[in-house]
Amino acid sequence: MLHLGEMVTATQSVNEETLQLLGAELDYVVQVVSPEEEDRELLESFKIEFGEDEGDDADLVPRPPVVTVMGHVDHGKTKTLDAIRNTNVVAREAGGITQHIGAYQVATTHEGEERKITFIDTPGHEAFTAMRARGAQATDIAVLVVAADDGVKPQTIEALNHAQAANVPIVVAVNKVDKEGADPTKVRAQLTEYGLVAEEFGGSTMFVDISAKQGLGIDSLLEAILLTADAELDLRANPDMDAQGLAIEAHLDKGRGPVATVLVQRGTLRVGDSIVCGEAYGRVRAMLDDNGDTVEEADPSRPVRVLGLTAVPRAGDNFLVVTDDRMARQIAQERAARQRIAEMAKAGRRRTLEELFSDYEKGKIDELKLIIKGDVSGSVEALEDALLKIDVGEEVNLRVLHRAVGAITEYDVNLAIADDNAVIIGFNVRPEVRARDLAEREGVDIRYYSVIYQAIEEIEAALKGMLKPEF
Ligand code: GDP
Repeated sequence: MLHLGEMVTATQSVNEETLQLLGAELDYVVQVVSPEEEDRELLESFKIEFGEDEGDDADLVPRPPVVTVMGHVDHGKTKTLDAIRNTNVVAREAGGITQHIGAYQVATTHEGEERKITFIDTPGHEAFTAMRARGAQATDIAVLVVAADDGVKPQTIEALNHAQAANVPIVVAVNKVDKEGADPTKVRAQLTEYGLVAEEFGGSTMFVDISAKQGLGIDSLLEAILLTADAELDLRANPDMDAQGLAIEAHLDKGRGPVATVLVQRGTLRVGDSIVCGEAYGRVRAMLDDNGDTVEEADPSRPVRVLGLTAVPRAGDNFLVVTDDRMARQIAQERAARQRIAEMAKAGRRRTLEELFSDYEKGKIDELKLIIKGDVSGSVEALEDALLKIDVGEEVNLRVLHRAVGAITEYDVNLAIADDNAVIIGFNVRPEVRARDLAEREGVDIRYYSVIYQAIEEIEAALKGMLKPEF
């Protein structure tokens, strides 16, 4: 590198261009791979394919849709999830107690047939974003909850942006129609601006009026989910293969050891299977469903809690059944080793504001995305307004992905990671410990300000490409 005139040391990161140059110099072909590709190659070396080939068309059978409920805070996401669960639990054995395992399945009758739907029961787009940041997609359909008395709000837009970015069809649940001042028609009108046009307005999005509190409209909502799934998605999976899927929640239980809720995406998971889940592995000792009942096997779209892992996986980690414990251990250990290397490298990997602007100038990125957190709503709004007013010529684009009052949370950092180029602005707020650790690990740029004009000056300078490298 020094011969090439690059003043770097062994602990520094270099861009792909420089790597290619070095490769050419040394007669190597350099291929830059994403962590997902790297993992795929690791699995291929064990003759395993994750998520690709499920066999012939004839091997595929319909599977239930997997649904995430999103929307603005207090619009009734949790209530909606509870209402759905209470009215439609899959026939449970007497004495079964509801267990919150991160997802549940309900049964409903649709066009004379019994159909199941799986709900991820962490409301909000936090879980969705965290998984996406890790390259995983668990959700087939998003239910966007909008309170009819409050209308479309910033997080409503955010949620629908997330769903649209992930190409996930949306069903709109217009909630709280029991309340005085509820105006479901207005919600429909507001959402047309964002490309969600109700069927009754000539569009293709299903809107359902509900009252989560009174349990009204829940059946119609389930109906709309199934209609949307049937019209827009071809949800089928092969149940006759080794199970694969995702971890959606995990924790360490004092008595039972690592406990993970996994969503089976294809194949059938059975007690006794050797599995690897992220960097954890083990043999499935027991499985529990969302009623706390033990189950012997789980088919596609079924969420189950798995006991028997050696470690706690992360939400979004993939899991798969392998031929034996040895292979499971080898894959897990290899992943852990790679993760350590990646973490060391990553500390300097994500780009700072300055680098983003140099990329911007080179035309590699087309806009600066910001996440603004502040101590009081007045300051957040004032800062956002001021930033959006910065005018340094039309080709420079500034977009606020998210703004809210409060400390910088893991969610904010995950959002910045999911949207590769986003920078977090903290106005009179600090990050939570876990958020700070995550940002450090992932190299997300967080900027702190306590005076609005300072923030404006810096962003403006950056936008003009005049930001000094050090301040
Ligand atoms: P979340 O933040 O979106 O999960 O919202 P919650 O489910 O916690 O609901 C926020 C508040 O709205 C709670 O006080 C609920 O009781 C209330 N709420 C939710 N759904 C309804 C509804 O259909 N009608 C009425 N009147 N209140 C509701």
